[in-house]
Amino acid sequence: MTLMAEPFPARITQSLAETPAQATGVALIRLGALRRNYRKLRDLAAPAETAAVVKANAYGLGAAGAFRVLQAEGCRTAFVATPSEAQELRGIFPQPAIYALSGLLPGTAPLFEEAAARPVLSSLDEVAEWAAYCKGRGKPLPAAVHIDTGMSRLGLPEAQTRQLARMPELLSAFSLCLIVSHLVCGDEADNSKNEEQLALFAALTSLFPGVPRSLANSAGILLGPRFHFDLTRPGIGLYGGRPNAGGTNPMEPVLWLFGRAVEVAWAEAGQTVGYSATQALKRRTRIATVAAGYADGYFRAASSSDGREGAAAYAGEYRLPLLGRVSMDLLTFDATDAPEEAVRRGGFIELLGARVTVDDLAERAGTIGYEVLTSLGRRYHRVYVDE
Ligand SMILES: *Cc1c(COP(=O)(O)O)cnc(C)c1O
Repeated sequence: MTLMAEPFPARITQSLAETPAQATGVALIRLGALRRNYRKLRDLAAPAETAAVVKANAYGLGAAGAFRVLQAEGCRTAFVATPSEAQELRGIFPQPAIYALSGLLPGTAPLFEEAAARPVLSSLDEVAEWAAYCKGRGKPLPAAVHIDTGMSRLGLPEAQTRQLARMPELLSAFSLCLIVSHLVCGDEADNSKNEEQLALFAALTSLFPGVPRSLANSAGILLGPRFHFDLTRPGIGLYGGRPNAGGTNPMEPVLWLFGRAVEVAWAEAGQTVGYSATQALKRRTRIATVAAGYADGYFRAASSSDGREGAAAYAGEYRLPLLGRVSMDLLTFDATDAPEEAVRRGGFIELLGARVTVDDLAERAGTIGYEVLTSLGRRYHRVYVDE
């Protein structure tokens, strides 16, 4: 959990005060934090270029808003997952190089050309399809090649990578502008798999002299300069999630999430809270019912019960433990220990931010911060603040 010097910046308080009366929740995206995270990762990786991974709508935070800020910081390269995401991003940004990580779906080559986007070719079939398309068009269009150094998910395995290096007619049909591989255990600094992948990546890319190389995601950047090569591809670290498994998170939280208390009421000891009566009150309890739930991406697996502590939220500096099950549209928190005036009907409860991070909630729900961010629902009133 990251504690900032001032956990509740004045700009946030102001934004909450300006929220429309009918908004049940606010997703506040701090562009200043996004910018500082980019600078931090870029400075760590320099002189390598730092791209931005903005797939899945920039991990749920909004690709247009996020990339606008990053582009102003000098970011020239964006990675998305799908051809549609590439088209969408190109519709907004004419300048950056845009790569689609999920590769070349059959028949999508014209779409890539039209969007001036680059597929990350992940099999010999995809390389052949792209090369044939380029020959037909009489233009060596740019594309990256993904090589598999251990993920067994996408990419040419070692033997096929060596085979490709011996196919000059295929390689001359298009412009091979980047070779990509992806770390399997990059978040674990001591995992020997990192060194194995690094060695294989260095060996295989040496078969393609002069072609720029990219291995590191956010976690890979933290592994040090040997992993940086020519271009890094951070995603989660930009958005404030924890790239490293242990130790403190060096990134600043970008998303602050607030839910509105729709009811605040006292309940007696012995009463149960929520579906299936999983939690009984041990004392007379002031319950704050907040208008957010699993339909908004607040995982049901983070529920609380008699045998298990669930997630928590904050009202100012006061911690409010979750009570009972997470419902579709509602959460119930224990506000007994907060002063009455800190938790009121219509007031905002901090669900995520510096005191409860996306990784804290993820841990309670048995998942990772990536899933918390990309699950963010559509009902939040979204505010982009730039300090
Ligand atoms: C998503 C993704 C990234 C970004 O990873 P983070 O862990 O979010 O920094 C980089 N490279 C590839 C191939 C990816 O799929």
